[in-house]
Amino acid sequence: MHVSDNVRGIEGSATLAIAALCRELRAQGREVIDLGVGEPDFRTPEFISAAGIASIEQGFTQYTPVPGIMPLRQAIADRIKGETGHPAKAEGIVVTSGAKQALFNACFALFGPGNRVLVPVPYWTSYPALVQLARATPAFVRSSGGSFKITTADLDAHHGDDVRGLILNSPSNPAGTVYSRDELDALVRWAHERSVWVISDEIYSKICFHAERAPGVLDLDDHLLDRVVVVDGASKAFAMTGWRLGYSYSRPEVARELSALQSHVSSNASSPAQYAALAAYKDEARARPAVNAMVRIFQQRRDKVLAQIEEQAPGLVAAHPDGAFYIFLKVDAFYNDSVRTSAAFCSWLLEQTGVAMVPGAAFGDDRYVRLSLAAPNAALAEAVRRIGEALKSPVALPTT
Ligand code: PLP
Repeated sequence: MHVSDNVRGIEGSATLAIAALCRELRAQGREVIDLGVGEPDFRTPEFISAAGIASIEQGFTQYTPVPGIMPLRQAIADRIKGETGHPAKAEGIVVTSGAKQALFNACFALFGPGNRVLVPVPYWTSYPALVQLARATPAFVRSSGGSFKITTADLDAHHGDDVRGLILNSPSNPAGTVYSRDELDALVRWAHERSVWVISDEIYSKICFHAERAPGVLDLDDHLLDRVVVVDGASKAFAMTGWRLGYSYSRPEVARELSALQSHVSSNASSPAQYAALAAYKDEARARPAVNAMVRIFQQRRDKVLAQIEEQAPGLVAAHPDGAFYIFLKVDAFYNDSVRTSAAFCSWLLEQTGVAMVPGAAFGDDRYVRLSLAAPNAALAEAVRRIGEALKSPVALPTT
């Protein structure tokens, strides 16, 4: 098919493709343990859903202002202020159809042809495509320190006049890496001194295992934030992936540009989703226990799975995740002439054990695969048992 250069070479999301494959295999009657999932396996807390339902019943089903209803923008700004002390203004908030759209808005509005955008590896699978859709070029930055965290020295190695952006993601998908406030300070200061835009994707900020929330760029000194766009949303924290509700926060003059772009692309986020999110951001007394309960369950699963892997498939865990709900497993020691890539490894695993995971290639590191903790304990335990068992024999795809 003849398509324009805008989308040439853009492939569909690998994580969503795994979900589709699992659905297909199940429809064929195969039993599949899907550890490819990128969404909490919890229901949206009832008081949030109830607010969405009430909004429909009350007839709030029409267009809203492009950057969102003012009470929601204000509630998000108040929440930011309460959590970080940063004097957030509602005018800086643009409510979007999921965090993904906030990322698209920011990349499309800030980057263009001739720009390079620094993307630390491993990265969330959509960043390179989002940068490419803006006709800019992603430049992948690997940590030289043997961890998944990059430093300013790593950034220095890639710097040039054409570098216009840096995309940070903490806690990270896929590795669960959490940067400390000081580490973020160093990276954002580096960007500030070079007039490089920072997009800080903090969608997993509440899913942090050693603190109530992970440090974010809004914890930093205000003078560093002129060229910063923070991306967050309701999807992961409130188990609201299907509602499609995210937001960006930036200086109001940047927010106006993002909103102008959105006005031509999607108008506003779904209005019932905005009223549901309003309950989530406003009613902290009910939201906080619901979030905390979910995070504790992810943490218990993480601890159990790490212990079980250590026992039944030792050597796979390169780094313990401190946030989000994934474990990035290093599997390249099992590669051979038959299975040379993470995609082949995942195909073999699915075929052999019925366990689905996402190839690390989708996140920029082909040595790994991503395991999601968004599954019940029994399924996780059975999956790790099967993986341990399967890895006792040589890894080989059938030759057909
Ligand atoms: N950013 C990261 C790091 C993610 O993992 C995801 C979803 O998996 C998103 C953004 C997109 O979030 P949303 O569903 O709100 O668009």
